[in-house]
Amino acid sequence: MNKIAASAAVTMAATVLIGAAAPPSAPAPVDPEKITMTTTNLGPGVAVIFGSGGNVGVSFGADGNVIVDDQFAPLTPKLTAAVQALNAKPVRFVVNTHYHFDHTGGNENFGKAGAAIVAHDNVRKRMSAASAIELLNLAFPASPDAALPVVTFDDGVTFHLNGDTLRVFHVPPSHTDGDSMIKWEKANVLHTGDVYVSGGSPIVDYSAGATTAGMVAALDMAIANIDDNTKVIPGHGPLSNKAEMIKHRDQLKALLERVTAEVKAGKSLDQILALKIEWTAAQGGRKAPADGLVRSTYQNLTAKR
Ligand SMILES: [Zn+2]
Repeated sequence: MNKIAASAAVTMAATVLIGAAAPPSAPAPVDPEKITMTTTNLGPGVAVIFGSGGNVGVSFGADGNVIVDDQFAPLTPKLTAAVQALNAKPVRFVVNTHYHFDHTGGNENFGKAGAAIVAHDNVRKRMSAASAIELLNLAFPASPDAALPVVTFDDGVTFHLNGDTLRVFHVPPSHTDGDSMIKWEKANVLHTGDVYVSGGSPIVDYSAGATTAGMVAALDMAIANIDDNTKVIPGHGPLSNKAEMIKHRDQLKALLERVTAEVKAGKSLDQILALKIEWTAAQGGRKAPADGLVRSTYQNLTAKR
């Protein structure tokens, strides 16, 4: 599972580097034959499924199944099989952590199969129209009606099932303007969506209203809601914990302060990129250029208000 997450991160990094030249395009299709679903149990009625795309949180038990994010459409049969290996009941609810294609790709399939899709107001808004992730040079058509969330919320919503309380809360615009996290209160598990990734550098999708400062604030909020025993499901990458999130938040804060200082000193984006600021993954310590993050942060700081 870690290998898959790492290769996804590498693909994404490569897209960032070569992105600028070509016109925006749709992402490459996912081949289900090449993807294996791996499930890790995190406590009574809670699990995470690693496959391709965003990590999937699962609440399962007598009240049926809830999944947090649903990867890509071609993976729905494999994802459904992995969920039903935990509990044969159907998926009642899909919660989307944000609107991105690698977290909502299965929505249409799960919606048609009878699941109610739940997400922040802005997830429905963004999926209802054509969109683009400028940083990654990707473009998307509007989603079909069946893929859209049918229950939306502003600040949050709470599920009471399978013997636990699942608190879904909106965080400041950080990865997009429709980010939510999900906390299993009893099992002490947090799904962060892409506000936190454990195996590489985060993406601040400024074209979806995200800011690096917002991401620091969202991480502060998440960290305040967990303890040393919390199992953290990141949007991408292996299972994590509070200590790694703090390291990650501090690094992001330092990067924001550094880019802010360089912009104040009158440096151009190219001059700041030439500084070759690196990102060290919270888990594993892999270092990689932080160019995407620098670009987004620069864009935030210099955007006309
Ligand atoms: Zn995302």
